[in-house]
Amino acid sequence: MSERLEVESSIAPPGLTCPRCDGLLPTGLGEMACTLCEAKVKVDHPATRRAWREEKVACPSCHKVLVCGVDERPALLRCGSCEDEFVVTPAVPKVEVACPSCERRLRMRRRPGRREIDCPACDTAFVVNF
Ligand SMILES: [Zn+2]
Ligand SMILES: [Zn+2]
Ligand SMILES: [Zn+2]
Repeated sequence: MSERLEVESSIAPPGLTCPRCDGLLPTGLGEMACTLCEAKVKVDHPATRRAWREEKVACPSCHKVLVCGVDERPALLRCGSCEDEFVVTPAVPKVEVACPSCERRLRMRRRPGRREIDCPACDTAFVVNF
């Protein structure tokens, strides 16, 4: 099994909601399937595509900084310096939620759906829906 090198993109498309059920859509561009009602929604955002094309990432092997030049994520890049290939994966937006017990703010990756969280500060378990 070969392990693929990955770098997470730092540019996320805007968060959008499903026109049918108003739930949060998975973040990305292209045809997205709503995880709640399974509607297919076409999402595009030219400004994000431009930013993706111009995004600079550091090669995970030799740390040389490259310009992606590709307007989609994930994107397979080859480093011109060490010739290793790596994948620029889509950015996962982060959100802050407050623990209902101690009000500590926790940062986490926003993925659609229900999440069970254990507060690291007070051990309270709670549920959030994104
Ligand atoms: Zn939906
Ligand atoms: Zn390299
Ligand atoms: Zn807490």
